[in-house]
Amino acid sequence: MPTTTSISNWGNYPKLEAIVNSFKSIKELKYLLKTNNNFIARGNGRCYGDSSLHSHILSTTKYNNILAFDSTKGLITCQAGVSFDELIHFLVPKGFFLPVTPGTKFITVGGAVASDIHGKNHHQDGSFGRHIVVMDVLIAAGEVVTCSNQINSELFNATCGGMGLTGIILQVTFSLKRISSYEIDQVSIKAHNLEEVFKLFEEYKNATYSVAWIDCLQSGESLGRSILMVGEHSDNIQRNKFRSERKFSIPFNFPSWVLNKWSIKIFNFLFYHKLIKKKVRSRVSLDQFFYPLDFIGRWNKMYGKNGFVQYQFVLPLVQSKEGLKKILTAIGNSGSGSFLAVLKLFGEQDSGLISFPMKGYTLALDFPMRKGLFEFLDKLDALVLEHGGRIYLTKDARMKKEIFWDSYQRAKEFEKVVLHYNPNLNFRSSQSDRLAITKL
Ligand SMILES: Cc1cc2nc3c(=O)[nH]c(=O)nc-3n(C[C@H](O)[C@H](O)[C@H](O)COP(=O)(O)OP(=O)(O)OC[C@H]3O[C@@H](n4cnc5c(N)ncnc54)[C@H](O)[C@@H]3O)c2cc1C
Repeated sequence: MPTTTSISNWGNYPKLEAIVNSFKSIKELKYLLKTNNNFIARGNGRCYGDSSLHSHILSTTKYNNILAFDSTKGLITCQAGVSFDELIHFLVPKGFFLPVTPGTKFITVGGAVASDIHGKNHHQDGSFGRHIVVMDVLIAAGEVVTCSNQINSELFNATCGGMGLTGIILQVTFSLKRISSYEIDQVSIKAHNLEEVFKLFEEYKNATYSVAWIDCLQSGESLGRSILMVGEHSDNIQRNKFRSERKFSIPFNFPSWVLNKWSIKIFNFLFYHKLIKKKVRSRVSLDQFFYPLDFIGRWNKMYGKNGFVQYQFVLPLVQSKEGLKKILTAIGNSGSGSFLAVLKLFGEQDSGLISFPMKGYTLALDFPMRKGLFEFLDKLDALVLEHGGRIYLTKDARMKKEIFWDSYQRAKEFEKVVLHYNPNLNFRSSQSDRLAITKL
């Protein structure tokens, strides 16, 4: 009898009982697929909710070889289970970096494709899918299909951002960014409120990377008080050895009282005021700039054993200012919400059918699990929808299906392609069932 394991992703909500199998070869994978009807691929479980959860999980983490590297063309080919952390160790000393990276390096290449991840450079470089040259996907019929923007583009566009519903991503070839240093030249600028941070984003729109940390508990004149950080790869040629940093891990779940309105207010106050001057220039490591949260291993335990929800939405550019004001006001009034929220500017939308980014502003923040949270988030969903926006699936654990179908304009097209490559809905997640993408 196969044994089940209790499993959850980064938000520690929901927790499911599942059979987890891993594979090292396509032969093993095909064998596993014959043993059951329902599967979902899972990389490192860094999505927050239930996107990579179901009763049968195919863990890709042992399918993790780097297959080819071309330094002349700046291309790499690797199996889907290779992590960004492994890639950084391999690439950075050779003078290359990832074309797009999220706020943690502990994700897999398969997860990056399936969520069509974005980084602090979306306004310049788009999402991860834009940098894929070609990839192989194992579809439900047991065939390996090669796809790209030119070959089998329908499958390609449904797989980038498709949350694992078209099949198992096996290997991916993608282009890299050339760098000459292990450091980033960073400028941090204080913004007193939302108006000011929008102006700063506009002023720095040609920067390669930009992100603002917002204090969500401010109101009135200070609504949207934040620090914008922009960065460029330094051209300071590096001679010392590349080192990746990790500081400490949280060993246990914090009790729920540790995080309350007052502890969060104090943290946010200190964060804003630690920047003494209006504008500060510094040179920081890649880890400090891209992955500040990775310095604290298992920081998700801070939210206690009941877990938390990360809420990330995007609003179209013309609606961003008004929509963000309303949403930040609602969050401020509720007194809940996380330490800091992250605001980024997105550029043009890429070709993924249900990829999250669209031209506009995106905000992400954590909400510790509490009574009444889902009802409150339903109200925020309504505001997001009213302003033409949508919720990021890889962070979602609770959205109602109507919100998904009303906000993802190409969802019907996506459903059609899924039904073509996954006709019996063998690849399905707890999320896709909840959102009625894979109707039960
Ligand atoms: C601290 C933190 C910061 C983050 N910051 C960002 C950010 O800035 N930008 C951003 O875009 N995201 C961000 N994320 C989210 C994260 O990048 C995505 O959830 C990513 O998909 C996680 O990859 P994973 O390997 O852990 O995949 P999982 O979490 O295991 O799975 C995510 C999805 O990918 C699918 N999948 C995984 N592997 C395969 C495969 N081989 N074939 C088919 N489907 C597959 C799963 O079915 C699931 O739908 C952040 C997450 C954390 C924890």
